[in-house]
Amino acid sequence: MRRKVTYNLANSITIGEDQTEKYPIPEVNEIDINLSQLQRNFSIIRNLIKPDIKIMAVLKGDAYGHGMVPIAYELEHCKCDTFGVVRLIEAFSLRKAGIKIPIILLAPIIPLQASWITINDITPMVDNEEIVEALDESASECNKIVNIHVKINTGLNRYGIEPKEAVNFIKKIYDKYPNVKVEGIYTHFQNAEFDENFTIKQIECFNEVLNRLEKENLRPKIAHAAGSAGILMYPQSHYDMVRCGIILYGLEHKEGEKDLPDGVKPLVTLKGRILKIKTIKAGETGGYGDRFIAKKDTKVAIIGLGYGDGISRGWKEVLIADQRVPVVNYFMDGIMVDISNLKGKIKEFDEAVIIGSQGAENISWEEASKYVSSYADEQIQRITERVPKHYFYE
Ligand SMILES: *Cc1c(COP(=O)(O)O)cnc(C)c1O
Repeated sequence: MRRKVTYNLANSITIGEDQTEKYPIPEVNEIDINLSQLQRNFSIIRNLIKPDIKIMAVLKGDAYGHGMVPIAYELEHCKCDTFGVVRLIEAFSLRKAGIKIPIILLAPIIPLQASWITINDITPMVDNEEIVEALDESASECNKIVNIHVKINTGLNRYGIEPKEAVNFIKKIYDKYPNVKVEGIYTHFQNAEFDENFTIKQIECFNEVLNRLEKENLRPKIAHAAGSAGILMYPQSHYDMVRCGIILYGLEHKEGEKDLPDGVKPLVTLKGRILKIKTIKAGETGGYGDRFIAKKDTKVAIIGLGYGDGISRGWKEVLIADQRVPVVNYFMDGIMVDISNLKGKIKEFDEAVIIGSQGAENISWEEASKYVSSYADEQIQRITERVPKHYFYE
C-alpha cells in the first residue's frame, strides 16, 4: 500500500493517518509536486535502460528540493532498486522513515560516522583505508558485514582512489578487513554533457580498472558510472547500475536546451498569492531603495514569495491571469510585479505562478534560473521549508 505523506514546516512528516491532509495549514504560497509525473519519469527512464541494470535514484539535497522522504516513498513504490545520498543525516532520515532498500552514501564519511553507518545498514563510498579500518571495527563490534562501494578517480579529480591503485586497494580490503565487503565500484564523469572525448577516456579508464580486477577475480558485483547525462548519452556506461538524479525530476543541468526524453517533465509548480494591489504614483518608489521608480502611475501587485522562500534577486517574470508580468522589486518575503499591462480582471488573493504553467504560458526552472545565472537544481534547492509542499496524483 502506498503511504500517504504531507511534508511541511509545521508537521515535518506525517505518515499514514494523515492529519495534515484533513487539516492542511493554509499558506500564502505552496509548491505542488506531481507524483504521477514522477512515476512517468521513472518508468520512461527505466525503459531506457536494460531490465537487468539497477537504478539508483539520487535523493541528495532534499531530493533536489522536492522533499526527500515523500519522493523516496513514491520511488520505493515504483520498485526503484537503490537510493543515493551524500550525507549521513540524509541516509539516516531515510532509514528512520522506514526505507528498506539499499542506501548508498556518495560522498566521503569521517571515521566518527562509522558506527552510525554500520548500525543503520548504510553503504558508504570509500576511497581511504582509515575509513575501511573504522568500518571494519564497528562492523565487528555489531557482528555485521558492511558493504562499501569503492570510488575510482578517472578524471573528475574530486574523490576516489587512483586507477593504478585499485587492485591493491581492493585486495588489501579483502585480506585485512574481514567485516567489510566491496559490493560496488564506481566512477563519476567530469563533463558528460559537453565533453565527449574526455567522457570516453573516463569510460576506457574505468573499463581498464574493471578488467584488471576481473583478472584477479576481484571485480565487485555492482559497477556504476552514469549520472543523468551518462544515462542519456553513453549507454556503454550503464554497467550494472545507473545513478539517476536531475532527469528523474524532469530538470536539466543544461540551460534550458530541451533534450530530455519524450514525456519526461518537471514535477513542480511553485505558486504564490497576490497579497496587495496598489497604484504607485509617477516618480514614487515601490519597495525598498530605488530599484523601482514609477515612470508613470503604475499598478503593482505584491506576491507573498520572496528570497526568504527561495526566490533570488534578479527573477524576471511571473504568471498572473495566464500572462507574463515583469518583476520590478524584491524583498525578503515577497516580490513586486508591474500589472499595468495585464488584460482581464484580477484581484487581491488571486494566484500567481512563479514556476510552472498557467493557461498557455509556462515558466520553467531552466528559464528562471538563467535570469539569475544559476541552474535549475541549484534554484529549486533554495526554496525554504516554510513553503509547504503539496503532493498529489493526477
Ligand atoms: C549528484 C550525483 C549524481 C546525480 O547526478 P545527476 O546529473 O543529477 O543525475 C550521480 N552520481 C554522483 C556521484 C553524484 O554526486
